[in-house]
Amino acid sequence: MLDVVIIGAGPAGVVAALRAGDLGAKTALVTCDLFGGMAANDGPVPVRTLAHAARLLRDARQLDRYGINVCEPVLDYTALLGRVREVTCDVRAHSSFRTNIEEAGVTVYEHAGAVRFLDPHTITTASGLELQGKSIVICTGGVSRQLSAPGSELTATHSDAWKLTEVPPSMLVIGGGATGAQVASIFNAFGSKIQLFHSGPRIVPAEDEDVSRAVASGFRKAGIEVTEDFGVIESFEKTPSGVRMHFSRDATKGSAEAAVAVVAIGWVANTSGLDLHHAGVETDTRGFLRVDQFLRTSASNIYAAGDVTGRLMLVPQAIYDGFIAATNAVRGDTMKIPDQVAPIGSFTDPEYAQVGLTEAKARALHDVVVAKLCFDSTTRTIIDGRTDGFCKLIADLSTRKILGCHVVGERAVEITQIAAVAIAGGMRVDDLAQVPLSFPTYAGVLWRVAANATRQLNLNVPWQATQVEGA
Ligand SMILES: Cc1cc2nc3c(=O)[nH]c(=O)nc-3n(C[C@H](O)[C@H](O)[C@H](O)COP(=O)(O)OP(=O)(O)OC[C@H]3O[C@@H](n4cnc5c(N)ncnc54)[C@H](O)[C@@H]3O)c2cc1C
Repeated sequence: MLDVVIIGAGPAGVVAALRAGDLGAKTALVTCDLFGGMAANDGPVPVRTLAHAARLLRDARQLDRYGINVCEPVLDYTALLGRVREVTCDVRAHSSFRTNIEEAGVTVYEHAGAVRFLDPHTITTASGLELQGKSIVICTGGVSRQLSAPGSELTATHSDAWKLTEVPPSMLVIGGGATGAQVASIFNAFGSKIQLFHSGPRIVPAEDEDVSRAVASGFRKAGIEVTEDFGVIESFEKTPSGVRMHFSRDATKGSAEAAVAVVAIGWVANTSGLDLHHAGVETDTRGFLRVDQFLRTSASNIYAAGDVTGRLMLVPQAIYDGFIAATNAVRGDTMKIPDQVAPIGSFTDPEYAQVGLTEAKARALHDVVVAKLCFDSTTRTIIDGRTDGFCKLIADLSTRKILGCHVVGERAVEITQIAAVAIAGGMRVDDLAQVPLSFPTYAGVLWRVAANATRQLNLNVPWQATQVEGA
């Protein structure tokens, strides 16, 4: 019998396998498809590659503003898909995890077919492999939530969208969360006529309200038709050129049609077919695996990590989970899930990102100072002709600790990483204002906005401090 069997080779499973191997456990990693999971094959890596192409198109269109004359850029989508394949293969081939895992003595079973449990210690795969483990770590990730309206089989998921062989002339995107927003933004840049339908009052609803407003406004400016609160989907029907969606709101009926309809209405645990009942593993009310603070499931020898637990569904969190679950699977319950600062961002146009509390949540829990700086008044954004967007910093009025940072616009995700480090380090906003970030940079906006908050607190801002010291 093996010490640990890990199911699923996404970020959670790969790190769990490496950790168990490093701890000297006899370990196997089994996955139904390719090493790397969704992150490498269907999520961030391909999406970021397509988003990069969208950005290049946008950058190329402003070359004449800088006196560079070229023809209008033309997208060769087949060539772009080739580049996406090249990037995903390259990322997989150069994954240092793969080498480390092999060095740690872990046996990797790729393309083993879907795994299912026979009992709490035994799994079998569709290809006929059978393995027994003292402990098992489930890292099977998530899948797109399906619509149940009649005709839903005519719709596509984000994964189908990346597999399209040509850019469709038009697209309905249903769901304005992070995934729907990315699909809408990317295909809009490639020339599809996009209609984005969101059931709630604002798209990207997990973001600060100012961010939702700015992203919706940026999308509309870029030509995306955004409809919030659109109502309830009644059905889909096939048309000669694609698909039509019927919906209703307060007894008023409406319809919209396009060549393709992509549904992105959330994420559910990828557990169907695992035969969890054979192992005594229970799910929570949302269908994700129920785990305790040690990532142990309801079965005492089985742990879970990553998206399948339904916590923050991001690569860094999956990696951290994998480490904790494997440590506990080998050593017993010694590591708890920590409270972590978690920056979140999306590579749409406009880009957006956040870390910490939204302004509404911060105001509900603290007396706060809020400073906001628009990108039309920062030097680097003016130089680069990227003046749409803002950076908002929120700090506690009495402790002056930074509580949250929200950015929309060019390099939003990168800017937010620095705010995340400041929050994780427990920095006060006036401390951040004392760090002379390089000029003229995107990250430098944080220094300006921190100085603005510091002035509101009636404390010395950096240039005043310099005067005092130099006096
Ligand atoms: C469009 C999109 C964009 C994203 N962008 C970002 C981003 O920019 N940044 C970020 O941090 N996160 C992003 N994410 C989220 C990120 O991809 C996930 O949080 C991460 O991949 C979760 O890792 P995981 O190991 O839990 O699961 P996964 O990566 O989903 O891996 C699960 C693995 O388990 C295997 N598996 C499933 N069922 C079985 C079975 N029965 N038997 C055997 N194997 C099985 C799968 O094939 C897969 O290999 C994005 C997701 C999507 C969909």
